[in-house]
Amino acid sequence: MDIALTDSADLKRVRALNALCVLDTPQEERFDRLTRLASSVLGVPIALVSLVDAQRQWFKSRIGLDATETPRSISFCTHAVAQREMLVVEDALRDARFAANPLVTGAPDIRFYAGQPVFSHDGEAVGTLCVIDTAPRSFDEAARQILRDFAALVEDELNKGALVAARVRAEQALHALNEDLEHRIEERTRSLSEINDTLKREIRQRLAVEETLRANEERIRTFIDSSFSAFVGTDADGMVVEWNPSAERTFGWSREQALGQELASLIIPDAYREAHRAGMRRFVRHGVGNVINTRLEMPACTRDHGDITVEMTINAFKSGGELFFGAFLHDVSERIRAKLALQQKQQLLDTVLETLDVGVVACSADGELTLFNRAAREFHGLPPQALPSGDWAAHYSLFSGDGAHLMEEHEVPLVRALHGETIKDCAMVIAPTDRNRRYVLASGRRMTGPNGEALGAVVAMKDITELNESQRRLRVNEQRLRAITENLPALIGQVDKAGNFTYLNTLALRFYGREQSQLIGQPVRQAYSASEFEKVEQFMKLALQGKRVSFEDELTVEGRSSHYHASYIPNIDAGGAVNGFFAMAFDITARKRSEIRQRDSEERLRTVTDNLPALISYLDTDLRYRFANAMYKQWYGVDPAAMVGKTVGEVFPAHFCGQREQQLRRCLEGHSVQIELEVEHAGEVRILQSVYIPHMRNGVVLGAYLLSTDVTAARRHEANLKTLAHTDTLTGLPNRRSYEAELEAALGRSVRNRSGMALMFLDIDRFKQVNDTLGHAGGDEVLREFARRLLRTVRKTDTVSRLAGDEFTIILEGVRSPEECARIGAKIVEAMGPLFSVGEMARQVSTSIGIAWTNSAQLDARALSTRADAALYQAKAAGRNQFCVGAATK
Ligand code: GH3
Ligand code: MG
Repeated sequence: MDIALTDSADLKRVRALNALCVLDTPQEERFDRLTRLASSVLGVPIALVSLVDAQRQWFKSRIGLDATETPRSISFCTHAVAQREMLVVEDALRDARFAANPLVTGAPDIRFYAGQPVFSHDGEAVGTLCVIDTAPRSFDEAARQILRDFAALVEDELNKGALVAARVRAEQALHALNEDLEHRIEERTRSLSEINDTLKREIRQRLAVEETLRANEERIRTFIDSSFSAFVGTDADGMVVEWNPSAERTFGWSREQALGQELASLIIPDAYREAHRAGMRRFVRHGVGNVINTRLEMPACTRDHGDITVEMTINAFKSGGELFFGAFLHDVSERIRAKLALQQKQQLLDTVLETLDVGVVACSADGELTLFNRAAREFHGLPPQALPSGDWAAHYSLFSGDGAHLMEEHEVPLVRALHGETIKDCAMVIAPTDRNRRYVLASGRRMTGPNGEALGAVVAMKDITELNESQRRLRVNEQRLRAITENLPALIGQVDKAGNFTYLNTLALRFYGREQSQLIGQPVRQAYSASEFEKVEQFMKLALQGKRVSFEDELTVEGRSSHYHASYIPNIDAGGAVNGFFAMAFDITARKRSEIRQRDSEERLRTVTDNLPALISYLDTDLRYRFANAMYKQWYGVDPAAMVGKTVGEVFPAHFCGQREQQLRRCLEGHSVQIELEVEHAGEVRILQSVYIPHMRNGVVLGAYLLSTDVTAARRHEANLKTLAHTDTLTGLPNRRSYEAELEAALGRSVRNRSGMALMFLDIDRFKQVNDTLGHAGGDEVLREFARRLLRTVRKTDTVSRLAGDEFTIILEGVRSPEECARIGAKIVEAMGPLFSVGEMARQVSTSIGIAWTNSAQLDARALSTRADAALYQAKAAGRNQFCVGAATK
């Protein structure tokens, strides 16, 4: 009978036997006791604990047998072990397997054998408890049960050692694992807190830098936008990057239209454009140019092709490595036009004075001779000279009308005129020793300025020496007069009392578009169309009644229409009768058009300012409104037109003025100021930001520009940002920052009120798996629901925060004992019991909670957190889905 002794199953079995470490050990009472009992209870002579080794069976305990081992090949037990259940042979001689076995045929003469296998703790049959008799016998079920029971006791004894060793080993491994885990947790906590600190620092720095940048940009933009000069910025290619409201007004292009366009094609006239571009290129390439940082006047053009002159200051600067130009431009066309007009008038006056045969002398208010025209110089043979008025008569040889005596100072016409007398045709003689004496009629008067201030006096002297030559003189005069009138930029004419032209200068003839022969001696009526004549007829009538009249009108003659300023001066003869009138007219078309343009542009400006979402006004130094836009009506219900001319105090109540008084005063001292005030508007409190900018000229403050804008929305936005910084956006709970502040505050209250408080750290169990199965968005939904359940479970006065990821905290105030903490912890664990549903799916979610409790000042924030953290890890380690109240050890 062959039993495979070397197959792999048997190798495993033999290894398990060896692992029990009992083979070849001394006899032991604990086994012998069992074999003894088995032999006596079952009434057999032999009982053995037989262990089946690779080649032998070895007896750990034996009763009634001397041999300590036998070869495996003849062993009965091998069969019991192989079949892993009890083997009973009632009569070996009748059993084909054993009839020839030497143990049957010879000593110990086995006839009966019953063996129950015994198993190692890992399930290998390592041997048997067997009973043997030398006579055949039967073995009933009761006997079999007794054998099984004894075998079980043997098994216990066999495995005892191995089990104890395994438990010791397992305990050691568990211990090591625990230590390793704690070490890793400590490391992770430390590195997380370091990362957190760095992040917080970076965020703080970034916020500060952003805030400074934003404030700077806002300030610069306000300056540029409220500048009354046009401000234009370009990049190195001359493309417009900045275009303020004044630039819109000056050049007619809106900001949207101008941005991104080439500046040269927007405002530089065709003729200068190439030169401008070349100048820019030169500057960009070589860094030199003759316009940078100087103030210069240059021609420019507007959107509607108007030619204007602008005064420009341009600057070049680098920003972010790129070159930019910024120019302030001021439309000075009007100033230049006015200057030119003044120069023209002066020229005309000079020409007239130098041409006249009437001597004209003038002096200033303090008696300094300022003017001698050509004729006066001729009369006296001397230029004007700085002399006291008492010396004038002697120096300039001024004699009384009969030529008999030198004039007294008070008789000199210029002195009399200076004293306020109006002199008409005062006869006097000028008698220098070296030239002919002249008889003259002097007329003069004091000169006053527009506000009545004394400017000096003027006297005109008509030479009547050659009265007898009057005919000739008249002709000469007539020629001269014609020369003058021809040179005047005026239409000059003379009309007789019948209303017929008697004289017209060249400009007048050109105006009527006719020859002299076609008009002289003809009625004025003929020169006009019926409707146009109506315009002048009324004034002609007045002039013929002896009244001086002046008027302005638009006249159309020969299909050309122009604006005129005309004066009709009655021609009254010596007897006081009206002999017709002189007419003088100036073409004021250009002025009129510029006035209209001015009015249009003022209207445009008003339309623009009225439609700006800002309150705009201008105050003079008496705090009197000179301008206010329509927004004043909308904001304060005051009519802007009615405000002009009134002071701030007359328009607004005392508290309004009080709030702004100090800033307005500072502005009028020459400082730009900015204030923010709360104003009630349309039943709502709005925040109004005002900028006061002084209007300066030559270092003197002329008034103040006031610009106020509604910044309520911006301030609300700032407030929102502040909320965001303290709130976790996913759950709407306070974030770590507010949690830390709140914890300090709660501890403070706990000390003050001498009450207990608790801090809970919560971490969702296996949240990574939640993310893995539901996706990140699903994970987010779980976090929100988790937050909702926490809020529902604790009191309103408790603070639930989310620190990060799946970590939450709760600050519980007024908690009296650790037992109360435990009740709350249990409530929260229970609140997570129901399934969390995310979309179609539902899932179990649990949390682990660490709780730290303190009584008034016992623990600070740090100690309390450390304790809650430790308790959380205990709860995790103990299998999750539970809470742990931290022990009160230091
Ligand atoms: P433990 O039981 O040990 O807590 O196991 P855990 O899987 O929950 O482990 P741990 O707390 O370390 O993991 C938290 C995970 O939460 C890691 C991260 O992927 C995930 N997480 C962090 N923030 C968010 C978030 O805002 N939304 C979602 N959906 N998941 C997040
Ligand atoms: Mg977790």
